[in-house]
Amino acid sequence: MSGGAKIVVGHLFPDYLNIYADRGNMAVLESRAAWRGHQLEVLPLGAGVEIRPGVHDLFYVGGGQDREQELIAPALAEMGEALRAAVAGGAAALAVCGGYQLFGRFYRDQSGDELPGAGLLPLHTIAGERRMIGDVLLECELVPGQLRSLAGFENHAGRTYLDEGAEPLGRVLAGFGNDGESGYEGCRAGRVIGTYLHGPLLPRNPWLADWLLAQALAHRTGEASQLDPLEDELEGEAHAVSADRARSRGGRY
Ligand code: GLN
Repeated sequence: MSGGAKIVVGHLFPDYLNIYADRGNMAVLESRAAWRGHQLEVLPLGAGVEIRPGVHDLFYVGGGQDREQELIAPALAEMGEALRAAVAGGAAALAVCGGYQLFGRFYRDQSGDELPGAGLLPLHTIAGERRMIGDVLLECELVPGQLRSLAGFENHAGRTYLDEGAEPLGRVLAGFGNDGESGYEGCRAGRVIGTYLHGPLLPRNPWLADWLLAQALAHRTGEASQLDPLEDELEGEAHAVSADRARSRGGRY
C-alpha cells in the first residue's frame, strides 16, 4: 500500500475507564501503525459525543472499578445503537474488563445495581463475592487454523456469562477467565473483541494488536490489508514471562 493511511480510533471514556495502564494499549496501536507508515488519530468519546457512521475504524474501552462504571454506564448504553451501526459498517472494537462487561447487555455490580450495557456482545455479567485476580494464559483461534496464545492479568468480581452459541475469545490454559468455571475467557463477535485481560494486554500480545490494526485498515481503505511482520523480540520475551507466571500461579484464590 503506497502512502500510509490515517486510522481513526474512538477511545471511549478514557478518563473513567483506564486502570492497569489500559491506556498502554493505545500506545502500542500507535507505534505499530507508525512502524508500517500509518498514522493513528485517537478521538476521545465521552458522554453525549455523537458517533457518526464511518468516522471511526476502531473503538477502544478500558477497565475500571464499579464506581467509575456506574458513572458512565448510562451514557455508554446511549451510544449502543450508534456503536452497533458502526461495527455493522465494518469498524472493529477492543473492550477490556470493566469496558468488556459494559459491552454486554448489563453488569450487576457488587452493590447489586444493574448497570445498562451497550449491547455489542451477547453476554451479561454478575458480580460475585470473591475477586478473580492473577495472571492468565489463553489459547485463541481468531483466524481459523491459526492457534495463538494470549497472556495477561485479570482482576474482576464480575462473572461473565455468554449467551448460548456465543463465541469466547479463547480457552483458559491458566487463570479464572469469564467466570472461573466455564474454562473460557472473553467473547468475540466478528470484529468486536471483549476480554478481562489487563496488563496492558497489547504490549505482550502484539499479534492481537496487528489483528485489530488490519481490521481497522480494511475499514479505512476498503481493502483487506497485510501488515509487514515486525521483529517483536522484546514483546516475545514479555509474553513468555507473563505466560510462565500464569502457568505457575494463575487461577488461584
Ligand atoms: N469493576 C469490575 C469488576 O470488578 C471490572 C474491574 C476491572 O475493570 N478490572 O468486575
